[in-house]
Amino acid sequence: SVVVVGSVNCDITVVTDELPEPGQTVTGRSVTLAQGGKGANQAIAAARAGAAVTLIGAVGDDDFAEVPVGALRDAGIDVDSLRRTTGPTGLATVTVAASGENSIVVIPGANAHLTELRRSELDAVATADVLSLQLEIPMSGVLAAAEHAHAHGTTVVLNPSPVTELPSSLLEVVDILVVNRGEAARLAVETLPPRMVVVTTLGSDGVRVIHAASDTDASIAAPAVDTVDTTGAGDVFAGTLCARLPDGLVDAVAFANAAAALSTTRPGAGSSAPSAQDVSVITHR
Ligand code: ADP
Repeated sequence: SVVVVGSVNCDITVVTDELPEPGQTVTGRSVTLAQGGKGANQAIAAARAGAAVTLIGAVGDDDFAEVPVGALRDAGIDVDSLRRTTGPTGLATVTVAASGENSIVVIPGANAHLTELRRSELDAVATADVLSLQLEIPMSGVLAAAEHAHAHGTTVVLNPSPVTELPSSLLEVVDILVVNRGEAARLAVETLPPRMVVVTTLGSDGVRVIHAASDTDASIAAPAVDTVDTTGAGDVFAGTLCARLPDGLVDAVAFANAAAALSTTRPGAGSSAPSAQDVSVITHR
């Protein structure tokens, strides 16, 4: 089973002809409300890939909470342990212009409450096979989850996004780091301890997995697909990888690579994650 400790957002996306200038009002073309947050996106991807998934995170007491909670429940994710806090749900308001330019405001909201883990949340981490982490909740919460997982033999997978310097206490307990090109450069992954598996996603070039301790260095090309929207491809990759780790590292990476590529053929972020069945069709053709 997979436990995700991470962010849960409601994304409000507005499409306009042009981004409004300061002080300007423009008429938009469309608006959508959707589940978002890297934690929720990766949890949904892991569930679609066939894992039993629990999400530990927080939503607020506003009407926006039901958007991600409903989507998570529909994906079959255990949301009983989600905290319901006083105040706003994490929210991203995204304005997209016809040119493709965007401007985004993020309200951390309830996600900011995850500064530590409660007893029951720690217990869920300890009994899972895999812990999935990202960096849209406070670092102290990430660290608490990772250290507890490490102490109980749960495999720790970290997708350090949005990227920031990682405390050495965190690097000591991460088993698998999942980074894109920008994150790999920023974190100087070639200098990380040989014990750690580093999985670098390379967009349309696929993925490379390096584990110095076991002499593993494998590159896997991305399948050729008709890409329409790469938003959230990294989240689909990381969530799917966590779900498929029981298959073995390189097979799991290959499966996640196919799932992420397939997700780019559909619009949306977490909601564009394919089912395990759809992925096996592409990996076997
Ligand atoms: P991020 O979304 O975090 O920037 P990448 O751009 O590296 O991460 O994409 C993550 C994964 O999604 C890639 O490893 C690949 O499997 C898949 N992917 C992304 N873009 C494409 C593309 N244009 N064609 C095929 N697969 C893609």
